Amino acid sequence: MGNPGEINIPPIKREEEVSMKRFRCILCGYIYDPEVGDPDGGIEPGTAFEDLPEDWICPLCGAGKEDFEPEEEE
Ligand SMILES: [Zn+2]
Repeated sequence: MGNPGEINIPPIKREEEVSMKRFRCILCGYIYDPEVGDPDGGIEPGTAFEDLPEDWICPLCGAGKEDFEPEEEE
């Protein structure tokens, strides 16, 4: 007979995309989307949340980065 052999393909981890996460302001619900950036705040599209300047604030309510949390997507 012979062993059919199971092929296990490990899930591909794209660590480069991990940082391109959306973050939500816990105070007002504003979503920072790295793909969009914050044009009004001088943030170019493609800027990861982690790469935002420390003095960046929520464009809606003025909350600091510490008031944002990662938005988990199913
Ligand atoms: Zn806010």
